[in-house]
Amino acid sequence: MDAHTPGTDRDRRSASSRRDVTTRSRSRRTRRSGRGAAIALAIAAVVVIVAFLGVRIGVGRLFRSSPAASPAARSAAAAQTASAKPAPAPKSAGSTATSDQSSGSSADTSAGPAWRSADPAWMDKYRGKLVDGFKTEPGYKAVALTFDDGPNGETKYVIDTLSKYGGQATFFDTGRKLKMSWAKTQPAIIWKAGFELGNHTQHHTLPDGVSSMWHRSYATDLAEINGPDAFAKYGTGRNTVWLRPMGGMIDATGIKAAVNTNHLVINWTIDSNDSHGGPRTPDYIYDTVTTGIKSGDVVLMHVTHPESMAALPRIAATLNERGFKTVTLSELAQHSTAAITQRIPQ
Ligand SMILES: [Zn+2]
Repeated sequence: MDAHTPGTDRDRRSASSRRDVTTRSRSRRTRRSGRGAAIALAIAAVVVIVAFLGVRIGVGRLFRSSPAASPAARSAAAAQTASAKPAPAPKSAGSTATSDQSSGSSADTSAGPAWRSADPAWMDKYRGKLVDGFKTEPGYKAVALTFDDGPNGETKYVIDTLSKYGGQATFFDTGRKLKMSWAKTQPAIIWKAGFELGNHTQHHTLPDGVSSMWHRSYATDLAEINGPDAFAKYGTGRNTVWLRPMGGMIDATGIKAAVNTNHLVINWTIDSNDSHGGPRTPDYIYDTVTTGIKSGDVVLMHVTHPESMAALPRIAATLNERGFKTVTLSELAQHSTAAITQRIPQ
């Protein structure tokens, strides 16, 4: 359903209601015996008003914001509102999104992704840093697989493949793909499966061919972050936690924009090399990911590379055999004592 439909219907109904009233007065002037018809029209008008109120309540529920946020989150939201161009409202009303938020499915009530908390206290440990990976708590053995450049048809495949082992992952989707009509359901699907949706900026690459977060203005950085979050919030009720710039390229201005929009910035400790270098065969990607992998590692892969998709079942099986959980980034961060970081370029 188009988001504008309720308003259009409302206008149409109001116009029809006005026509009904006009018709009714004219009827009274010309024919007293038309009283029965007038009563019928009045009943019809009441029905129209009740239907109109129903539509209004439904729309209000659809766009209701998430639970009360902390002062930090509220100020971040205010900063977004004040300084960023609002992202286009998703055009498909997505009954899936609405039901996913209220369905109370097992995915929603399980220990699940920590990004569901309105104001995760653990975020302070990583705020303002350029995080590559984590030092996990003693006794906690897990890695975070991350899949960039979606959504696409493989998103569901990744969910199904990792779910066989009870695992999850984080998808870094771009706003420009999330805004495509078929993709509007993706945040809700990811959410419902217990996976995490991350922010891979609105445009990924700007016309100069470089990362949309690399040496840009503060205003551009804010817009690049806020774009995908409009779709995340629409489908899941909240913004993303993690931002991954294209190619890992971000400067101090971008980090500042991330802090002020309540995001953490994540790169990776293991590059599968599926987007550059190496023979890029499934065997090669499998070896690159699994050789020497340790708890707290963050693995970079892409849903856009078929070789990675082909290697994924073996990767999942091997990690499972070695006792690694595959978890969302927020889950991994929550069970870590510190971040492995790199210097922030100026
Ligand atoms: Zn990318």
